[in-house]
Amino acid sequence: MRVAMVSEHASPLAVLGGVDAGGQNVHVAALSKALAARGADVVVHTRRDAADLPQRVALAQGAVVDHVPAGPAATLPKDDLWPHMQEFAEGLHARWKQDRPDVVHAHFWMSGWAAVAAASRLGIPVTHTFHALGVVKRRHQGELDTSPADRAQVERDLVRGADRIVATCTDEVFELLRLGAERSRVSVVPCGVDLGLFSPRGPQLERTPGLRRVVSVGRLVARKGVGHAIEALGLLRAGGGPDTELLVAGGPRAEDLATDPEVARLRAVAADAGVADRVRFLGQVARDDLPALFRSADLAVCVPWYEPFGIVPLEAMACGVPVVASAVGGLVDTVVDGGTGLHVPPRSPAAVADAYRAVLDDETWRRGLARAAVSRVRTRYSWDRVAAMTLQAYADLLDSRSRPLSQGVSS
Ligand code: UDP
Repeated sequence: MRVAMVSEHASPLAVLGGVDAGGQNVHVAALSKALAARGADVVVHTRRDAADLPQRVALAQGAVVDHVPAGPAATLPKDDLWPHMQEFAEGLHARWKQDRPDVVHAHFWMSGWAAVAAASRLGIPVTHTFHALGVVKRRHQGELDTSPADRAQVERDLVRGADRIVATCTDEVFELLRLGAERSRVSVVPCGVDLGLFSPRGPQLERTPGLRRVVSVGRLVARKGVGHAIEALGLLRAGGGPDTELLVAGGPRAEDLATDPEVARLRAVAADAGVADRVRFLGQVARDDLPALFRSADLAVCVPWYEPFGIVPLEAMACGVPVVASAVGGLVDTVVDGGTGLHVPPRSPAAVADAYRAVLDDETWRRGLARAAVSRVRTRYSWDRVAAMTLQAYADLLDSRSRPLSQGVSS
């Protein structure tokens, strides 16, 4: 099967951990490779964001990244890309006219718009994954949401205009239904995790003698809730809990930590909470170094205000680390409360502190959670399984299009 992935801002080749480079980059790269490993022929179209990039770069056997010109060949914030999507769509159309894919799979709303604009003129079916929904972002971020004003309407149009929608979790399905999606056109396929890289056995970052360790990994943006993880550490200390440090990965490169405004804000939170000496900012950590960081931890904390999916908890669980997670979005499906970690309400440092204490005070239970975490991730979240489910969604789509309308669509 010939698959055209469209991922306008999130190149599978990007460095992770910066403001706009996170789960979507990982998702598109890993899914493309896993589909190729199952015999699909995959081209990932992404915006050219540097002048010196070759037009095509091999990603794996059977998968290539294709750089499509759209706006300046320079890094731009993703919220500034919308005006360049017409040019991006024209580029896609020109490519697909020459070299027609069987199915297009678009990621994020701007890619979806461009993919539908290009593919509909050629009669190519489009599958769409939102990754994040503007209505949810607006609900949680209010005035802080810098998305273009058109986003909400484009997403409503896409919910009806895409031939099939692949949601990444059950919570997203409810949001899509509220936006007018037809349930029979929505498949649920989770994100996966690289089980070759993230595993319990292997090198470990050195421990600090006498301290328990909690880790947080992710982009340093307010909604990721790292501030709450820090406040909770303060409450743990004030309550006489085990002496614990918090290592925070993500944000700027290590050499730029001193001048980063979000790091400065979080350092102030740590000082106010009385744990400035127990919080360490690592800056961006290369993907290959993350397993050693996770393995060195007793617990991972992931307490965003909201989370469309959240790959980090899967990575932690795959390394044998239980997760304290807010019960939002994809984390409701991935983390089993009392089974592979603990759920807490979002924006609740006191609940996070209680969860830290419950797990850190009971090593036998902690180890049980860790074992269950590894087995859950191995059975449900391999990229190979995710690729098989995705191919099934493509097959359902092609099947529904090949049948006369009177036979209806498949579920
Ligand atoms: N990540 C990384 N280095 C960092 C911070 C994050 O490699 O310093 C990776 C992390 O391991 C995960 C991805 O970036 O694979 C973040 O994905 P997630 O779905 O958790 O959040 P998003 O960034 O998409 O909101």
